[in-house]
Amino acid sequence: MPAKDVYDFNDLKHWASAAGDLDPPARLAVFGDPVAHSLSPPLHNPALRAAGLGTQYVRLHIRPEELADALAELPRQGFIGVNCTIPHKAAVLPHLTEVTEVARRTGTVNTVLVEDGSLVGHNSDAPGFKRAVREAFSVDLRDLRILILGAGGGAGRAAAVQCALERPERLVLANRTLDKAEALAAELREFFEDDRLEGPVERLEVAPWDDEALRAQMDHIDLIVNATSLGMKRSDPPLLAPVLLQPHHMIYDMVYAPPRTRLIADAEAAGARAANGLSMLLWQGAISFEFWFNRDAPVEAMRRGLYEAAGIARK
Ligand code: NAP
Repeated sequence: MPAKDVYDFNDLKHWASAAGDLDPPARLAVFGDPVAHSLSPPLHNPALRAAGLGTQYVRLHIRPEELADALAELPRQGFIGVNCTIPHKAAVLPHLTEVTEVARRTGTVNTVLVEDGSLVGHNSDAPGFKRAVREAFSVDLRDLRILILGAGGGAGRAAAVQCALERPERLVLANRTLDKAEALAAELREFFEDDRLEGPVERLEVAPWDDEALRAQMDHIDLIVNATSLGMKRSDPPLLAPVLLQPHHMIYDMVYAPPRTRLIADAEAAGARAANGLSMLLWQGAISFEFWFNRDAPVEAMRRGLYEAAGIARK
């Protein structure tokens, strides 16, 4: 029997009757509300098949008020783990037995492992961002001067925490609501207090969301990250005035639908290198797989599944 596109909480409570006919059995899932759009099954199922792990991955529509009980069902129903997406990434934390350092610092969990009946949480978006940048530009975060636009949102915060853990040359946090970037900078300051040589500009800074303030940063930045939701809709205003982009910049746009955002087009017109967020989606999935199975993920099988589901021809 093929898996349903989406299961719900009632199905989870009666998993043997709702999904007991599946071959291989479904012991991994993504929790979300909504969840029907999730690309995680086409990302993970080819990897599970390639690795011969004898399990499959499905979507579970879990509403916020069902989250605690749904998590409690996981050990009872024989699950290996789940991913959590909107709106559960922060709400899941109080229900876990243990979380990794990156999950604690970001305050969000997108990967849960069931281990001896307890639940362990991890955030694979943050290290997924690191590997995506490495793959796109052949550089490591620690060697870069980085500007994160949208540092106050969930994805921006994950990227900022990962950058801080890598102790990069510079980190500049910008967010429309400045308070959020300032609060995050205060949390991350301890990572920038080592004896690394000081340059002409501060290693950790907060920049207000305006062209003048951002213009002043641009000569001192290598990697610009879009972690805002701007760029998903054609009607969105430009994230940055194109004149601010320079040929030495690398632009990582976390948006992946559409695959070629206005920011990417503007960056390439300026002679800069640019990549969209599909590789971050891929690598967060690979890191979730590693967390569940304690082995390398078959990344190329995942990449094929993801690109096919996203309707994107591979370069
Ligand atoms: P979120 O928590 O809702 O944060 C949204 C961010 O966008 C906030 O920083 C917000 O600023 C900013 N923003 C929204 N509208 C804006 C505008 N008109 N002008 C300036 N800033 C604006 O969302 P999220 O979960 O972090 O997701 C953010 C983006 O990352 C989305 O495009 C999402 O698809 C993408 N993402 C990609 C991946 C991947 O794997 N590639 C993973 C996660 C997320 P305020 O704080 O001022 O509201």
